[in-house]
Formats: sequence, C-alpha cells, structure tokens
Amino acid sequence: MINCIFCKIASHEIPVPFVAENDYAVAFYDRSPQAPVHILVIPRIHIASINDLTDQSGPVIVGMMDLVRQLAQIHGNSSDKGFNLKVNTGASAGQEVFHMHWHFLAGK
Ligand code: 5GP
Ligand code: ZN
Repeated sequence: MINCIFCKIASHEIPVPFVAENDYAVAFYDRSPQAPVHILVIPRIHIASINDLTDQSGPVIVGMMDLVRQLAQIHGNSSDKGFNLKVNTGASAGQEVFHMHWHFLAGK
C-alpha cells in the first residue's frame, strides 16, 4: 500500500534489519522500545488491523506466530522464555500504524 511505512520496511524500501523472517512475516526492533526487548512482527502483505483479517488470512497468522515462537527462544525472558504479545487494534485502542503489527515484549 502506498505510503504505508511498514509496507516499505517489509519490502526493504526502507532499510531496517530483520530480527527474523519467513515467507509471510518479518520481525524488527521497535524504534521506541517500551521494554528491554521490543520487537514488532508484521505480515509482508498489507493488512490494516486484526479487524481486517479474512477467512484467507490463516497462513499469514500462522507465519506471524511462527516468528513469535522463534523470538521467544532467542529473546524471551531468561527464566522461562516468557514474553508479552500486545496488539493495539483501532485508534481508540492506541493503534498508530495501520499495518497490523504484534508487539513482542520481553526482558522486564
Ligand atoms: P501502535 O501504537 O500502532 O501499536 O505501535 C506502533 C509502533 O511502531 C510504535 O511502538 C512505534 O515506536 C513503532 N514505529 C513506528 N514507526 C516506526 C518505524 O519507522 N520504524 C520502527 N522500527 N518502528 C516504528
Ligand atoms: Zn502496509
């Protein structure tokens, strides 16, 4: 989608190093971390929010969750690989970037 910052990151139009990636999703560090480890997981295709998912979105969700699982193994809390997954959905809930993203938060 034109002028979507996260589409530009996913396509490398804006160069941001990926922490993890697969066919469906990429992960990169949040520019304003809210925890010692703050990584965003986004789909490669433009989906504005959870409220825009469809019956065809299953593989994308599985791909994103696969990255979360990988992140937990490397970046999860040292004791038990624990983490928080936060998904602001809709402006009223604090979503500022309308390309769906999951906040992976760890190291508190
Ligand atoms: P939201 O409030 O939409 O759930 O969160 C948006 C997140 O994206 C914020 O935590 C913000 O710091 C992050 N963010 C916004 N623009 C960029 C960017 O260009 N690069 C990176 N790495 N993070 C961004
Ligand atoms: Zn986008």
